Amino acid sequence: MLFSRRKFITMSISGAAAMAGPVWASDKISVVATTGMIADTARWIGGNVVEVKALMGPGVDPHAYRQTRSDIVAMTRADLVLWHGLYLEAQMEDFFRKLEKRGNVVAVTDTLPRELLRGHDDYADKFDPHVWMNPTLWVFVAERIREALIARSPGNASVFVKNMEQLLPKLVDLNAYAEKTLASVPQSARVLLTAHDAFGYFGQAYGFDVLGVQGISTESEAGLKRISTLVDLLVDRQIGAVFVESSVSDRSIRALSEGAEARGHKVSIGGELFSDAMGLDGTYEGTYIGMIDHNVTVVANALGGTAPARGMHNKLSAGF
Ligand code: ZN
Repeated sequence: MLFSRRKFITMSISGAAAMAGPVWASDKISVVATTGMIADTARWIGGNVVEVKALMGPGVDPHAYRQTRSDIVAMTRADLVLWHGLYLEAQMEDFFRKLEKRGNVVAVTDTLPRELLRGHDDYADKFDPHVWMNPTLWVFVAERIREALIARSPGNASVFVKNMEQLLPKLVDLNAYAEKTLASVPQSARVLLTAHDAFGYFGQAYGFDVLGVQGISTESEAGLKRISTLVDLLVDRQIGAVFVESSVSDRSIRALSEGAEARGHKVSIGGELFSDAMGLDGTYEGTYIGMIDHNVTVVANALGGTAPARGMHNKLSAGF
């Protein structure tokens, strides 16, 4: 079974390379990134000399995503392929391990110090992949992307270094905003309950208890027992708000809120958070900084803290 799957992957890669037709329109350094967060960071650092395509758009769940035929074509023709790693792209792991042998494929978390990573609840030998939730960890990823671009295009090294120097203080400011804003949430209300366990690093960085209806990956459906345990917790701790996620079904979160209400405890939906995918292309929330700003601002305002309604730079869409 495993053998035939590997064989299929090999055939897919070589078959796609043989396909005709333009994939990359310009003479810029072509980069394919799996998630929007990686793509946005690569655009920051690559600036005008790179063209970046993201495989996964807004609302796409990276735990479940499988490469399409056109993805394979783009990846086989790209100058550089950036994927997340840490088993985030669980359905594409075999594909990337194979593609990696071509030498222009980088898992952007591969040099992230392991002692900074959280364990994975479902797999003893794996880590929680959701490192973008803490901007200070994302700095390591940005630096890895800079190094990958320099290795691919040494002649543009000074451009990549300069762009990273401009990005770094923005990530530092983002983290400072998150620390200050989330510190305004009363201690007893610092519980973040979402559809799946994507916010572990967020909780660790900013002092929140984090609970997901589903685990770290979105593979398994939450059972009734899990729902009932979480309803107890909502009622016992008098948690006032739970959150839906843009890339995961909101069914289980709504079941929780209804379950608590049936026990006489009103729980509101605190808003939609961007967990594993960013907001719409072309919007502020469709950038890494905008995504985190949105999450921090929504969480703080829903749980009794104080945050400017339109976020750190007054750029968030009104009325979320
Ligand atoms: Zn996730």
